[in-house]
Amino acid sequence: MSCETAALPQSIICETPRMALDDCFTFRCGPDLACFGQCCHDVTIVLTPYDVLRLKHAMGIDSTEFLEKHTLTPRAPDQKFPIVILQMLDDTKQCPFLGERGCSVYHDRPWACRMYPLGAAEPKRATPTDQPFHFVLREDLCRGHAESTRVSVRDWISSQGAEAFEMMSGGFKELTLHDFWEGDRPLSQQQAAMFYMACYDLDRFRRFVFETRFLQLFEVDEARIEALRTDDQELLEFGIQWLRFSIFGERSMKMRRNGT
Ligand code: SF4
Ligand code: SF4
Repeated sequence: MSCETAALPQSIICETPRMALDDCFTFRCGPDLACFGQCCHDVTIVLTPYDVLRLKHAMGIDSTEFLEKHTLTPRAPDQKFPIVILQMLDDTKQCPFLGERGCSVYHDRPWACRMYPLGAAEPKRATPTDQPFHFVLREDLCRGHAESTRVSVRDWISSQGAEAFEMMSGGFKELTLHDFWEGDRPLSQQQAAMFYMACYDLDRFRRFVFETRFLQLFEVDEARIEALRTDDQELLEFGIQWLRFSIFGERSMKMRRNGT
């Protein structure tokens, strides 16, 4: 997941070589390696809203059920907004989606799983000397680094199908990097609940939009209303727009004149 450099351990910011898209690293992963699947144990995987959307579709369940069954919502004292992480199995500590032949949701696996062993960091405000960068995570259990295949950062991202995930996470990334979070204005319980619903619990957000007075309060054109009924990606973008209006006070939505 892209993140502010300030949120990364100092060792990554200062000591890990920063890689540009055309820089290369040596790595290969595959079922023939002795470590196959080891990286899917006891691991913290932060899910983006688009990850949740893809996974709940892959499983054919709604977002509320997916979140209840497969995620945790950790609360750290300095945490600005809700995050969700994939819940490992209680007994074996392995990812619930790890099967005998590898990842059972491979086509829809989260961004962080696609990128591994690459991580990404993004300064809040890029400058000529402080640009977004990638870095290689090296863990002892991973034998992939001993393989001789050389690959560029760009080709790795492309080969793992991570571009679509990055593109779809653009609005969420802007939301999480917003200046609002720099102020000493913690979200109220209600705002945190709104954030969680609009970003992660999309099926509940859809019911909120269509089964309350929401559409009487906001001007939304008919074509978009129709799209919001079935298109989760459109609903996610709409939800982010609504959060920017409701939490940041931006003019990203228009209220109806007679909407009371
Ligand atoms: S530990 Fe590394 S090489 Fe082994 S399966 Fe996981 S990512 Fe691939
Ligand atoms: S989602 Fe797939 S790749 Fe990611 S940790 Fe689980 S089993 Fe491994």
